[in-house]
Amino acid sequence: MTELERHSYDVVVIGAGGAGLRAAIEAREQGKKTAIICKSLFGKAHTVMAEGGCAAAMGNANSNDNWQVHYRDTMRGGKFLNNWRMAELHAQEAPDRVWELETYGALFDRTPDGRISQRNFGGHTYPRLAHVGDRTGLELIRTLQQKIVSLQQEDFEATGDYEANLKVFAECTITELLKDGDAISGAFGYWRESGRFVLFEAPAVVLATGGVGKSFKVTSNSWEYTGDGHALAMRAGATLINMEFIQFHPTGMVWPPSVKGILVTESVRGDGGVLKNSEGKRFMFEYVPDVFRAQYAESEDEADRWYKDPDNNRRPPELLPRDEVARAINSEVKAGRGTPHGGVFLDVSTRLPAEEITRRLPSMHHQFKELADVDITAEPMEVGPTCHYVMGGVEVDPDTASSKVPGLFAAGEVAGGMHGSNRLGGNSLSDLLVFGRRAGLGAATYVDSLAERPKIDEADIDAAATEALAPFELEGGENPYSIHQELQQSMNDLVGIIRKEAEMEQALGRLAEFRGRIAKMTVEGHRQFNPGWHLALDLRNMLTVSECVAKAALQRQESRGGHTRDDYPAMSAEWRKKLLVCKLDADGGVDVSEEQQIPMREDLLELFEVDELKKYLTEEELPTA
Ligand code: FAD
Repeated sequence: MTELERHSYDVVVIGAGGAGLRAAIEAREQGKKTAIICKSLFGKAHTVMAEGGCAAAMGNANSNDNWQVHYRDTMRGGKFLNNWRMAELHAQEAPDRVWELETYGALFDRTPDGRISQRNFGGHTYPRLAHVGDRTGLELIRTLQQKIVSLQQEDFEATGDYEANLKVFAECTITELLKDGDAISGAFGYWRESGRFVLFEAPAVVLATGGVGKSFKVTSNSWEYTGDGHALAMRAGATLINMEFIQFHPTGMVWPPSVKGILVTESVRGDGGVLKNSEGKRFMFEYVPDVFRAQYAESEDEADRWYKDPDNNRRPPELLPRDEVARAINSEVKAGRGTPHGGVFLDVSTRLPAEEITRRLPSMHHQFKELADVDITAEPMEVGPTCHYVMGGVEVDPDTASSKVPGLFAAGEVAGGMHGSNRLGGNSLSDLLVFGRRAGLGAATYVDSLAERPKIDEADIDAAATEALAPFELEGGENPYSIHQELQQSMNDLVGIIRKEAEMEQALGRLAEFRGRIAKMTVEGHRQFNPGWHLALDLRNMLTVSECVAKAALQRQESRGGHTRDDYPAMSAEWRKKLLVCKLDADGGVDVSEEQQIPMREDLLELFEVDELKKYLTEEELPTA
């Protein structure tokens, strides 16, 4: 029998980013004994890196804004592939979630008359992103942690124990979910420092593990983004959707090589920054697609007037959704009009006074000065696309965030559907709050509905332990680092921003080869803080997720949002009706099948002009009257 530490909770939340913390707060407020588990230090989740802001139609900067406009923008951004119910809930509930953060102690930037300030971002009709300079994610996490501490203080008053009902387990990685029959019964993992195993017995688990970017070579994502939650869900029998849609953010740093991929926030463009090629041309005017032409300026004059007078001018094309801007930059570089280091120029220095730049974009100023010795108040930045966000994730019920597995819930970047084929900037932070809360509530309600708690099978614990220790058992095998590097390079080169059938087939061939190599890899040393072992365990997950991305991308014969096919360059209304669903087969490989989208509710369809709907929907999907 495996030696391990045991805990018992009602709800276990895996992940301490915005989604996980908001879920845990809700579960605890619903009276459930809740654990928060995270593989990094508490407070270091990916969410702290979010810069630009949190999208919510509060109407503070423009009173014309409302949830219907936000809904329309989100659906357009996702090219109508979004789960419309999630997009509806998100647009309706985001303002309440932001105001609620204020009650937890958040300090957002202000308008001159004292309301929460809102900034422009790509694809949003009105200034909509509540922000704290360019450090919004940090404030969001600080505030949610503060709320957790205040709940723990309440629990101390009542029980004499701060951690009686809400406890954080940091630097603890979950490697397997356990089940009793079909239903979740707990989670198995290890302490990163000691390597010792730990078991959480719980009838409900909320996955809030974030994204998958570490499967790609050039990425804005941190070391945690190894797709653990996506793979854990699949191994437990849940399904993933939309995995072919990967967002390549248009502006990552391209130089020096050591920082390639680090994000340059969209706020730079939202606050007036413009993109230019090596000939000094503002090239985005050449890349406005037909579906967006009516909403975007045709001349530099009109685009520049929009910043001061948005009601009487159209938006600059630099603020098109991210997929459009990333493809445009890619084309300029390919056409030989790139910068010396293979990007394009992003210039804010000639657009705003220096003191305004350092006030509005302090982190960007610091980042470029420290990492590239570039002063963004005096010279342009060099930028290019970087793998940033996965639109795909666990297939969930929009209202309760429950997956297909009883007791398993998912929220935040690990969940799929909300953003369709492309996420709008700022819509992730609001997604975390809206669906984090709903997942916590869904999990608590599920626990209340159970007649008895599911049981843990000791044999499953032994199997999870054996699987985790497997890389120590083999001698003379390959180390995980070289396989990881090759995996990242393959995904970047063969399943990247522009996809070709032959290259994706080549990628799948390589992934099959990696599968064989991973089964035989070896890690040196012992279980105490052993990064090689940690990577070996993460690599299994990265491989599964990469297979999902490559297989679904090969299957989808159209271009849409974060999926661009060289051989199928157009959007197809027929393909829009289909979701590609990934599931594990009996051998642990990925099986992809088609599922029909649920048609959009009539009252939501009516929010759009029929002429616009015709660009996305088939004839029979159009409103009848
Ligand atoms: P995360 O915040 O990433 O948290 C994941 C958690 O899961 C972590 O605590 C991690 O330790 C834990 N975890 C993972 N695997 C395991 C495991 N196996 N066991 C235990 N714990 C595990 N979005 C916006 O809306 N606005 C922005 O301005 C914005 N700016 C961004 C800037 C950058 C540089 C980046 C990279 C992203 C930005 N995004 C932005 C996107 C947004 O930040 C993320 O999508 C979002 O923070 C994801 O939150 P999450 O709660 O889903 O996951």
